[in-house]
Amino acid sequence: MFCILCNSEEKLYDGLCKSCYLKEFKLVELPEYTTFTVCSHCGATFKNNKWIQAGYYDDEIINDAIQKDITINDKLENVEMFTEITNNRGTVYECVLHVSGDILDTRIEKEYPIEVKVERGVCPDCSKFYSGYYEAVIQLRADDRKLEDTEISNADEFISSEIQRICKTNKLAYVTERIVLKEGVDYHIGSYNAAHKIAVNMQKQYGGLITESRKLVGHDKNKSRDLYRSWISVRLPSFHRDDFIEYKDKIIKIEKIGSHKFSGTNLDTGKTESLTWKEYENVNKVATMDDLRLTTITNITPTEIQVLDPDTYMTVDLQKTDNMNNLEIGQEINVIKIKNKTYIVI
Ligand SMILES: [Zn+2]
Ligand SMILES: [Zn+2]
Repeated sequence: MFCILCNSEEKLYDGLCKSCYLKEFKLVELPEYTTFTVCSHCGATFKNNKWIQAGYYDDEIINDAIQKDITINDKLENVEMFTEITNNRGTVYECVLHVSGDILDTRIEKEYPIEVKVERGVCPDCSKFYSGYYEAVIQLRADDRKLEDTEISNADEFISSEIQRICKTNKLAYVTERIVLKEGVDYHIGSYNAAHKIAVNMQKQYGGLITESRKLVGHDKNKSRDLYRSWISVRLPSFHRDDFIEYKDKIIKIEKIGSHKFSGTNLDTGKTESLTWKEYENVNKVATMDDLRLTTITNITPTEIQVLDPDTYMTVDLQKTDNMNNLEIGQEINVIKIKNKTYIVI
């Protein structure tokens, strides 16, 4: 029998001599070009039915794009291959696929040119962002008063820096809308998890209370689950540092506002009182530093301090506490009148 290509007379494989057979042998079937999809907004790449945001590099993307569209000849054994990018014109990568393997007990290697084209798409996260999708609303409020301008601008800054931090790992960490209302500011946040984290951190920073409610807003047919939207209210306390509050017949001048507790000086005892936010509902703000009055000490005994009532100029005897040991007769001092009782404010 003769080889149909070179007429050589020897053992034939599919009508060809070994040399012609190896020359004609196709190690892989591959198309002229293949594609991969990149999100035109964020650069995420589509890989194995998933959008990958980071850590997926050009070489690997292009190699994967080629691998998904080629078929290796199943007669070939011990296959090895690698992709060489030979040129890049805009959205087209010209590549050469180097394939080697064993056939008829011979190691052969061949090169196959292939183009890889970039297709533009929109990943679901970006499509959510551009459609204004949001899972949660952070409602910034102040309890029993209007929010102050500085509180709003501080919260704006706080939320934006939190978003910048969280969005590195959570694509839905974005603010789609910021709405100023009479009662406060609403921030529409793409991701519930991000909104929840931010609200918790805001409470740690500014104190106050967080309450949360959610509403059914739809149904995701693909994942067959209900979709909820959450409203997370961050309620700043009615008082600030240096304000005076009433709590169970005690008058306390607030000195610290923390994430778990707030504390201050009990004006009756001069001692520090510390309350958890659970007690907040039992607290009333009763005065501010603007209510302080200046008066004069007229007498001091081991247990009492006598001052002039700033309104009536009558003398009033007040209980002396440990923090008043340095006071002297004739000295001017701040007092505050709350519910007809006068307190010395050190
Ligand atoms: Zn031949
Ligand atoms: Zn995207």
